[in-house]
Amino acid sequence: MIVVMKNGAKKEQIEKVKSTIIEIGYKPHAIKGVLKSVIGVVGDDRGKVIHLERLSLLEGVEKVVPISQPYKLASREITERTSRFRVDKATVGGNKICVIAGPCSVENEEQLITIAKAVKKAGATMLRGGAFKPRTSPYSFQGLGEEGLKLLAKAKEVTGLPIVTEIMDTDDLDLLEDYTDVLQIGARNSQNYSLLRRVGRSKKAVLLKRGMSTTINEFLMCAEYILSEGNEKVMLCERGIRTFETATRNTFDLNAIPVLKEKTHLPVFADPSHGTGYWQYVTPMTLASIAAGADGIAIEVHNNPEVAVSDGGQSLKPKKFAELMKKAAPVAKAVGRKI
Ligand code: PEP
Ligand code: MN
Repeated sequence: MIVVMKNGAKKEQIEKVKSTIIEIGYKPHAIKGVLKSVIGVVGDDRGKVIHLERLSLLEGVEKVVPISQPYKLASREITERTSRFRVDKATVGGNKICVIAGPCSVENEEQLITIAKAVKKAGATMLRGGAFKPRTSPYSFQGLGEEGLKLLAKAKEVTGLPIVTEIMDTDDLDLLEDYTDVLQIGARNSQNYSLLRRVGRSKKAVLLKRGMSTTINEFLMCAEYILSEGNEKVMLCERGIRTFETATRNTFDLNAIPVLKEKTHLPVFADPSHGTGYWQYVTPMTLASIAAGADGIAIEVHNNPEVAVSDGGQSLKPKKFAELMKKAAPVAKAVGRKI
C-alpha cells in the first residue's frame, strides 16, 4: 500500500509515518513528489494484519491506498510521474530521449575510443560496452574483464560520456562500481534474484534488461527486487523475447513499451540491436520505439563490425548511427520529445 501525505506535509509528520511503518513490521520507501510526498509500505505481509487504520489516522496523512499490483514500488499507482534521475551528467526519464550507444564488447583501446568519439559526436548520451560478457558458449570471447573496465574509464575521460556495462556476478560489484555509472543486468540474469538484490543496495543506476522468456509482469517483479532494496535508479530495457520466429534473432516486443509505460513509472528503454539481431532492422525499430513512447534507446555500434568479437551482425557503423540520430529527431518531435 501507499501512504499519500497532504500537500505540504511537515518533515516530522513524514518521519512519524515512516517510524510507524517500521513499528508495524514493514519497510517505508519515501518518494518525494512535486506537491505531495508518498510513502510506499512494503514487506512480507505473511501473518500480519495490515494496520491501515493506524496509518491513516496519523497527522499529515491524506489517505492510505492499497496497491493492486504484485509489484508495488515499480507501479505507476505509487507515482504518476515517470521517474527522473541523473546519471553523472546525463538525465534519464526526462523529455529528452536518452541514447546509449557503443560496442557489444570492449575489444581494445583503438576500437573503443574510435566508437566512443563517433557516438558522442552523433549525439549519444551514454557509452555502452561489455567487459564481462554472457556468452552462449564457454568457448566464445568472455570479455576483457578489468582491462575492459579501464578502457571504458579512459573513453569516459576522452568523451565525458557516462558508462554502461554489464554485471554478471555479485562478486564483481565492488570492482564495477569503481568504473561504471550504470550497471547493466543482462537478459540471462534478469531473474537472478541475488544479483538483483545486490545491485539494489548499490548507489549506481541499473539498466535491467528483460529476460528472453520473462512476461511483462515478471519483468516488473524483477525491478521490484532492486527497488525493494532501496535503489530507485532503475531503467527497464525491452530487448526482444524468444518466440517461434527465426527470421530475426529475437522477437522485438514493441508492445512492451506502451504496456510498461502504463504499468510503471520507471523509464523504459528499447534495445533494437538485440531485439532484431540484424543491423538493417535496427533503425526502423528504433524509430518505432521512439514513436511508441520509449524514454531511451540502446544501440550497438562498431567501427568494424565484420571483425567484431561479438554481435557484429547487429551493430551499426558510426555513419549509420549518425544517420539514425538524424532520422530519430523528427519522430521524437512528433511525440513531443527531444533526442
Ligand atoms: C548486451 O547488451 O550485449 C547483451 C548481452 O544483451 P542481452 O543481455 O540483452 O542479451
Ligand atoms: Mn551484444
